[in-house]
Amino acid sequence: TNHRWDSIWLAGLKDTDPATIFDKIIAGEIPASVVKEDDHILAFKDINPMAPAHILVIPKDRNGLTRINRATPEHTNILGRLLVAAGEIAKDETLGFGDGARIVINDGPDGGQEVMHLHLHVLGGKKLNGQLG
Ligand code: 5GP
Repeated sequence: TNHRWDSIWLAGLKDTDPATIFDKIIAGEIPASVVKEDDHILAFKDINPMAPAHILVIPKDRNGLTRINRATPEHTNILGRLLVAAGEIAKDETLGFGDGARIVINDGPDGGQEVMHLHLHVLGGKKLNGQLG
């Protein structure tokens, strides 16, 4: 298999931004601890957890969603799917979540985003404080 072309295809034909490490995870080229998957989304454990439970939820087809400030009405369906998946993960006790979690999207350099493939962070497994920044 030509993995480079796999990644380009997965990034979407309308998306000419550079592929990221997440394309390799989607393609199975590098391992990840996957906790939820369907045709549209993939959720896996963050490699550098910031909380006792820390899951990333991503669209399999980036389709221009390098970051949330690129969202347009054509992304409404996938954005809904990502949020539904995040909510399901946030109550999954087998993943270490209790009664509540924090769902975060970092947007761009000033928002602390490092991987330019939209992702939701689902953080929990302890009582989080009310501070956001
Ligand atoms: P950002 O800072 O872009 O919002 O978050 C990117 C997240 O991806 C970070 O929390 C980082 O630990 C995680 N990450 C980066 N590379 C990998 C990887 O190869 N595997 C996994 N599971 N997580 C990764």
